[in-house]
Amino acid sequence: MTNGQLSVLLERIERSQFVTCVCHVNPDGDALGSTLGLAAWMKRLGKECRVVVPNRFPDFLQWLPSVNEIIRYDKKPELALSVLRQSDLIWICDMNDPSRALEMEPIINECAERCRNEEDGFMVMVDHHLHPKADFCNMQISCPEMCATCEVICHLMWQLGELLLITAQEATCLYTGMMTDTGAFTYASNRSVVYECISHLLASGIDKDKIYRNVFYSSTPNRMRLVGYMLYVKLEVISGMNASLMTITNEERRMLGVKNGDTEGIVNMPLQIQGVRLSAFISEDTEHPEYVKFSLRSVDDFPCNEMSARFFNGGGHKNASGGRLKCTIEEAVEQFRKAVQEYRHLLQG
Ligand code: 5GP
Ligand code: MN
Repeated sequence: MTNGQLSVLLERIERSQFVTCVCHVNPDGDALGSTLGLAAWMKRLGKECRVVVPNRFPDFLQWLPSVNEIIRYDKKPELALSVLRQSDLIWICDMNDPSRALEMEPIINECAERCRNEEDGFMVMVDHHLHPKADFCNMQISCPEMCATCEVICHLMWQLGELLLITAQEATCLYTGMMTDTGAFTYASNRSVVYECISHLLASGIDKDKIYRNVFYSSTPNRMRLVGYMLYVKLEVISGMNASLMTITNEERRMLGVKNGDTEGIVNMPLQIQGVRLSAFISEDTEHPEYVKFSLRSVDDFPCNEMSARFFNGGGHKNASGGRLKCTIEEAVEQFRKAVQEYRHLLQG
């Protein structure tokens, strides 16, 4: 950020009393890490700060500091609305477009409308997704080259001299987002500055090994069995295409006793198969069964985000993207096969 932007932001933070941090639907480690990390920082600066998320998040993030203070819009819409309406500073985290908040989109647009007059409020986007929607926030801190929104916040704190003051609670949140968005530093994490950030976070006294275990070694026996079922029964490797897919319906979820967050990470596993460059996890949406969700992962230069944008009404990052279509699971699989055919020049060989 330029010095000009920094001083505008600093002045806004100083002037604000009520601060709210918001993130996208189905919050992941980076969405929760960035909102909770920012909120802890804002509170340290003496602000009254709340975190509002559109809906539920996976159980393996339940241990995050202050997670119990999160306001879920799907559970408490009136409270979420009143908190956002009284906020004089709103952080839009890990989200490049209000539509990523799904049911909360109208409220975010309402806040954006109010903040057009900067006397009435100020909205800041901190994000690392490509193609941020122009002009909906008063300030855009959009860094697509960074591994996580939590990394963007680290740099922001660094520039403001705050990284030396960061508490273990704030650092735990930010580290979690960087760790989860890079698959524990196995992708999108070759820039050396990532580890300079982490060095600062570690200096605050966080236990990164514990954070790793909290997130990745938190399976229940049932989730382990689900992984077995998905890999043994449901995995299909598309012949000659170096691509794989798995599907799960809500009926299968019921049958297997699948809990919130249990399917997380399974999409990455087929990338362990030699040669496989693209893996898709296709699932009936639990909350909106008329929709099918796509989760895509790839290695090297295969552009998942482009495929998601062209075929699945979605987007994301080069190696991790998602999307959503109103269709049946069978139609979704056909659409994926079509997409694979279209991209065979990048998948084969
Ligand atoms: P996941 O597979 O973990 O649900 O999502 C991976 C990434 O894809 C997310 O971090 C997000 O950037 C992107 N993504 C997931 N779902 C959608 C969607 O419906 N629309 C868009 N634009 N991006 C999505
Ligand atoms: Mn992210």
